[in-house]
Amino acid sequence: MRRRKKIFGLALFSAIIGCCLLCIAGLRSRVHRSERIILIVADALRADHVGCYGAPGNPTPNIDALAERSIRFTDCYSVAPWTWPSAAAMMTGRYPSESLVFPHDSKFLGYLARRPRTLAGIMQDRGFTTAAFSASRAFAPTFGFGRGFSTFPEFRNDRDAVRAAARWVSKHRNRKFFAILWLMSTHHPYHAADMPPSLRRQVSAARPCIRTGAIFGRHGLYSTAQITAHPRNDEEYSPAEIRLLHQMYEAGIHQVDRYIGHLLKATDGIPRTAILVTADHGEEWLEHGDIGHKLKLYAVNLHVPLIVHAPGYAARIQTAPVTNLDLMPTILALARIRPQTDLPGLALCSQRSIPRDRIIISEVGVAGWRVHRCSAHDDSYLVIHTLTAPPREPVVPRGGRWEYVTHGGRRATSAPDLRRALLAHESVAKRQVRATKSRPLDAKTKAELEALGYIAK
Ligand SMILES: [Zn+2]
Repeated sequence: MRRRKKIFGLALFSAIIGCCLLCIAGLRSRVHRSERIILIVADALRADHVGCYGAPGNPTPNIDALAERSIRFTDCYSVAPWTWPSAAAMMTGRYPSESLVFPHDSKFLGYLARRPRTLAGIMQDRGFTTAAFSASRAFAPTFGFGRGFSTFPEFRNDRDAVRAAARWVSKHRNRKFFAILWLMSTHHPYHAADMPPSLRRQVSAARPCIRTGAIFGRHGLYSTAQITAHPRNDEEYSPAEIRLLHQMYEAGIHQVDRYIGHLLKATDGIPRTAILVTADHGEEWLEHGDIGHKLKLYAVNLHVPLIVHAPGYAARIQTAPVTNLDLMPTILALARIRPQTDLPGLALCSQRSIPRDRIIISEVGVAGWRVHRCSAHDDSYLVIHTLTAPPREPVVPRGGRWEYVTHGGRRATSAPDLRRALLAHESVAKRQVRATKSRPLDAKTKAELEALGYIAK
């Protein structure tokens, strides 16, 4: 009898401890769960132009203040150097070769593939109200990015997009939501509305190719008419003109920062709100012969800021390599939603440690569905492989079909592990790419995309 009592006592004790542990785990899970998640994407904002990533002159006080109380990822690389493939990767957690389709007869338009589940769709299925506020003509419902969003108004400028997003956030403060704000002030033609008057005067007095943004010729992405009118345009710029363009880009960064500050203010006092700030790709300033973002895969084209402020996660700096493929698993994990197991990315905040020797792969492919350039890097080397020459580039690029570069920018001789990883990725990517039929665009969208240089006239 005494023995039975003892066993009963032990079982009761274990059950109480078990319950306590479960309660603590449940409480911890609830405390750490983000019920409202806002993803802010500044188009073409390269990392080293942000204050907390080392840019001088305090260009981004609001982003820096957020970073102080967030996890700041120092080495985040986009999987693609331009908008459509990068947006597709962020929205599906999958490489562009799997998540984006291109029509055969268009060089640069892309559509989100039908098959992969989208981040917004999963959030919506789990009871989150979803909304996107975009001033980008590319990140738009026309190209399939509306999937999973219950609200997706499009805007002509960042100011209107931010105001609408701030109003929407305030209105939905008591609901579970997932919202994206996509800002364009950092994208060419770099016409920030609140450009300082002295800069505006210089722009007004500049040549039309700078005033109108009809620039940046050599390697596609810009219309044939523009290229014909301004052949080899980057090389025609005087040093003073390049400085002026760069100042215009910096004015765009300042404006993006101000708008982010405006939205952050709207989230003040709203509990369990996670905020992520990143960019879809970088921007080149003649480091590799071009201005803007095109089809290259160097660090300046891919290195982006990533700042994650989330309930339950202390501020820290994370230096292991990460990618924007990680955004989807990270956001799902913040919302305590189990991601699909076959996603290649990592849930960054809940990861105990991110492998320092992780290999990050990026790819770019347009025009008839060939994956024509891939890169892989770890924390020492970057390897770029050009399979086929992109339009307007020499068949064999200056560095050869295989380029090996150290992170300091020096040429290296080889990096066998990266080369192997890249070849393995390419063989899968080539099988996954899918073409689609061309879909007619309405006249207005077509004109806007032409003005941005994405499609040829
Ligand atoms: Zn972009």
